[in-house]
Amino acid sequence: MSAPVRFLPLVDTHAHLNLDAFAADLDDVVDRSRSGRFPEIRGRRVEDALFRPFVAAAVCPAVDLESSLRSLELSRRFDVLFAAVGIHPNHAALAEPGDWEAIERLALAAVKFDANNALTPNNANNANNPNNANNAVSPSLDGAKLVAVGETGLDRYWDDAPFDVQLALFLKHLELGRRTGLPVLIHSRDANDDLDAVFRDFYADAAPDASLVPPSLPISPNLTSDAPSPGVVHSFSGTPEQALAWTERGFYLGFGGFVTYPNRKFAEIAEAARVAPLDRILLETDAPFLTPHPLRGKLERNEPLTTAFVAKRIAELRGLSVADVVRQTTENAARLLRLPTLPTEPSPL
Ligand SMILES: [Zn+2]
Ligand SMILES: [Zn+2]
Repeated sequence: MSAPVRFLPLVDTHAHLNLDAFAADLDDVVDRSRSGRFPEIRGRRVEDALFRPFVAAAVCPAVDLESSLRSLELSRRFDVLFAAVGIHPNHAALAEPGDWEAIERLALAAVKFDANNALTPNNANNANNPNNANNAVSPSLDGAKLVAVGETGLDRYWDDAPFDVQLALFLKHLELGRRTGLPVLIHSRDANDDLDAVFRDFYADAAPDASLVPPSLPISPNLTSDAPSPGVVHSFSGTPEQALAWTERGFYLGFGGFVTYPNRKFAEIAEAARVAPLDRILLETDAPFLTPHPLRGKLERNEPLTTAFVAKRIAELRGLSVADVVRQTTENAARLLRLPTLPTEPSPL
């Protein structure tokens, strides 16, 4: 008699499925993600044939206004996809006047729309909030599942936009996160010290304007364990000390391909993944980029299901089972992003 297969529901907290790289075959990508069947991956077991990982949810970060709209649209079309709206720091200089304001309007409308429809459990009691009554909502948001603001942040590596332009836009995203109660997806490349400084400034000031924050979404600048988190530093590339300082401040850390690369220059990131509080760790792909080892160079592009290999690496680093890491990181993602009840079994392909 064979033992039953255990399913491992993964959440990919950062997958750019709204970019052109996935335009031609997105239905296939989503189908094999949620069914957990991916021929290139199947030959390489994550842990044991008795475990079958599948993608229970994936968040599509935006890089500009167009991809923000697409992210919302994909979240309407696919039950497992969730939306974020924002402007990536490397696109900061390309944004047209009015783009940011349009994103703000989308975020505010989508959050109120969610609240009115009790789409997410934490927003359920918002129905009694007079601020949310009778909002005129764009019909395109019907069924959209907005769970985050971003991605935003700072990037000194590509240097595509002047740093002060990136910084100004980053602060606007953080403010929007406060106003909506949505977590912010934060990008940092060669800018971890800058990020540290922004966090210290932005979250050190007095309480935010209470009139901007719905009562059911209390935002505290002095984060305690039960206060909402300001967001996630995605594709974490900082030091173990920064990992501890930022999680202490309430942030979550997204780990992806970097943590799996054997090259010594990634050793510090692996060490951060080993010592960071487990209840603050998220899995991500940054698809179509950063394919994890051992699939790197073998896949044409990265896809959400490869988060299983990130989980495997974190399990090795921490002396845990893959199942434990998947369970905990999925629970973390559901908590941070206020995801609805997720599927516990893969869908048939
Ligand atoms: Zn990024
Ligand atoms: Zn990204």
